[in-house]
Amino acid sequence: MRDRYRRFSFLTDIGGMKNALGEMRGLFFPKQPVLNRQAAAPALDGAWFAGALGDKVARHPDNALEYPFYGEPIFTEPLVGFVRGDDPIFEKLKHVIGPHHFTPWEIMAWQAENNGVEPPAPGDLSVVSFVLPFTKSTRDDNASATVHVSERWAQCRLLGEIFSQTMVGEIVADLMGRGILAVAPDVTPLFRKKRYPAVGWASPWSHRHVAYAAGLGTFGMHDFLITEKGSAHRMGSFVVNLRLEPNRTRPENIHAHCLHHRGVTCLKCASRCPAGAITAGHGHDKEACYRKVASSLRYCTAKYHIFIYGCGLCATGVPCESGIPAALSR
Ligand code: SF4
Ligand code: SF4
Repeated sequence: MRDRYRRFSFLTDIGGMKNALGEMRGLFFPKQPVLNRQAAAPALDGAWFAGALGDKVARHPDNALEYPFYGEPIFTEPLVGFVRGDDPIFEKLKHVIGPHHFTPWEIMAWQAENNGVEPPAPGDLSVVSFVLPFTKSTRDDNASATVHVSERWAQCRLLGEIFSQTMVGEIVADLMGRGILAVAPDVTPLFRKKRYPAVGWASPWSHRHVAYAAGLGTFGMHDFLITEKGSAHRMGSFVVNLRLEPNRTRPENIHAHCLHHRGVTCLKCASRCPAGAITAGHGHDKEACYRKVASSLRYCTAKYHIFIYGCGLCATGVPCESGIPAALSR
């Protein structure tokens, strides 16, 4: 059965190839929903968004792994946070990541223009950010891996991304139908990953930095975000024309939850990395990591029959895998 399962996935895993081209080239995304300009936009609050995202994760049929893990969910209950569209952190991100990184207003102006309406003021925008934790089975599988990404983790990378985009697409379409401008930056034609001299591969909208901005976590030595549910997750975010109250406190220290950065002996992520891409002296070498992750595409298509690359070994089998390390959470 396994050998017959989606043979030649580098030709037949259409979902995987579309996902890769979307990420790198901004192609194949569904059409943007149209704003219902007649509807009286309701004043939805943060609780509505937390409920909508939690409900999708709990009930959506696409939150599901494929053969040989049929019946297993990809994600468990999400963490949800909000950041205001005029938060000065978005200007800082233009320096930290690069001038190509969108502010919420820039991406919303594009959506407003698409719909023939004036762009709302930055202060009338909010970003909804969410973290989708992987299940214990997925974390355990990857923690057992030492060279190549595990099959569950690889499936979660691909199917999880597709599910996340579907979920956000449904919520954005719902909001636009109610007369509320909304946009998911990573499913627009403007979303293209490029290699920049200062920061290496980067996209014009970083879910991780937005999640930090929303107080959902801080960066570890491995560059994953360490959240109250750990580092083994996917994340997403979208911009809405609503004033949502920030619900979490953002630590000033961007590494507040990482043992090494707090002076506690750890670097377990470095010893887990098969590419030697994490060192005490130089932190996370994005280029070395990229080479290892990109090389896994061949392995995943041959062994797991899906068109995806991945690794995440440094986010599993480590003290920050499933929560803020105990020594820092007391
Ligand atoms: S494994 Fe240790 S050093 Fe590495 S990110 Fe996690 S807490 Fe930080
Ligand atoms: S994702 Fe893999 S290659 Fe990249 S730093 Fe982590 S363990 Fe190393």
